[in-house]
Amino acid sequence: MHNKHNLSHWEKTVFFDETDVLIIGGGIVGINASIRLKELKPNWKISILERGTLPFGASTRNAGFACFGSMTELLDDLKTQSEDEVFALVEKRWNGLQRLRNRVGDESLNYKSWGAFELFKESEQSDFETCKNHLDHFNDRLKTIVKKPSVFEIQDDKKSDFGFNGVSHLIFNHAEGQLNPGKMMQTLWAIARNKGVEIFTGVEVEKIENRDHDVVLKCNHGLEFRSAKVLLATNGFTKRLLPDLEVVPARNQVLITQPISNLPFKGCFHYDKGYFYFRNVGNRVLFGGGRNLAKEAEETDEFGHTSLIQNKLIDLLNKVILPNTPYEIDRWWSGIMGVGTQKEAILKCIDKNIYTAVRLGGMGVAIGTLVGEEAADLMVNT
Ligand SMILES: Cc1cc2nc3c(=O)[nH]c(=O)nc-3n(C[C@H](O)[C@H](O)[C@H](O)COP(=O)(O)OP(=O)(O)OC[C@H]3O[C@@H](n4cnc5c(N)ncnc54)[C@H](O)[C@@H]3O)c2cc1C
Repeated sequence: MHNKHNLSHWEKTVFFDETDVLIIGGGIVGINASIRLKELKPNWKISILERGTLPFGASTRNAGFACFGSMTELLDDLKTQSEDEVFALVEKRWNGLQRLRNRVGDESLNYKSWGAFELFKESEQSDFETCKNHLDHFNDRLKTIVKKPSVFEIQDDKKSDFGFNGVSHLIFNHAEGQLNPGKMMQTLWAIARNKGVEIFTGVEVEKIENRDHDVVLKCNHGLEFRSAKVLLATNGFTKRLLPDLEVVPARNQVLITQPISNLPFKGCFHYDKGYFYFRNVGNRVLFGGGRNLAKEAEETDEFGHTSLIQNKLIDLLNKVILPNTPYEIDRWWSGIMGVGTQKEAILKCIDKNIYTAVRLGGMGVAIGTLVGEEAADLMVNT
């Protein structure tokens, strides 16, 4: 058991004291903030405190969709926001993805531009008609953002190729892709360490004390870190440190199959208005979602599974996605997102020298890089 009294002089002065910025959370947001800070202020001492062995939250546990919004999702957003606001958010996601791809490189991300499909069930005919009516207009708006002549396209002919059951229509998005979140984070951690960022794993911040001249972070094992400024990049776990911030944890349960010979599809797929999502990972199927089946129970920051959601995912695999293909499940996992009534991240200075970059929703792969970088800019400029 360590505590501050038995740290050596060298440990205390080199690692724990007089840090310029401490970042809590080593996910996509925290790590990008650290990289940007080192670019802006190469001499600043910057450390990340991550409670997991890896960034065990969402960044290494997500589905790896490089997406910016399906048609039904954009239409849904239009109910509460103006068209300009909705497409400004799309542009931000798109720019975030380009920034991530430039920073990490497509090879390291294992990025595949295989596009994404939205599936419509027989009972969703009217939703499909609404999408169809908006298709040309959306493509027009996206032209300037994505620089492709048409992003969305109806591709009903693919239904029989893919072997789905109970699906009446497919809308293809030409501009979305998929990546490997493990490789993404591995490379980002290497870039940060290369620039001199210290990453401490297994360190959980338990309390933040804002003092006159510095901020003290009290951690497990009795450890104490001191810094001029602190950034919380704790997303779905933020309420544990800041109970009043409007970030609700949202657990997502996921499975992956064993390899399937002759898997008939590749790409990313949004089903049931995005409540379920699946993709190929090589010749395996990754499948997750169903949070809407038990909304309150899934508003938790504890990892885990429920038979209700597991059974639903298996049922949809058997009946809709792989109705004629034998498969075996390889593993299950869960991840925690941070959501709220608004889709924007909470990127601000919440108290003298304490900043937040949290509430990434279901699009953190797309916006995480920019949100982290904007947090760094804010910390340097205020
Ligand atoms: C199952 C699942 C599927 C998803 N699929 C996609 C997708 O396909 N595409 C997409 O764009 N987005 C997807 N997302 C969302 C995306 O993964 C997240 O928005 C993004 O990873 C959030 O990054 P972050 O850095 O804010 O948070 P996180 O990655 O959760 O990082 C926060 C870190 O803070 C650490 N931490 C928390 N509290 C403390 C503390 N007190 N002390 C020290 N460390 C602490 C945690 O351990 C964690 O590693 C998905 C999310 C999940 C869960």
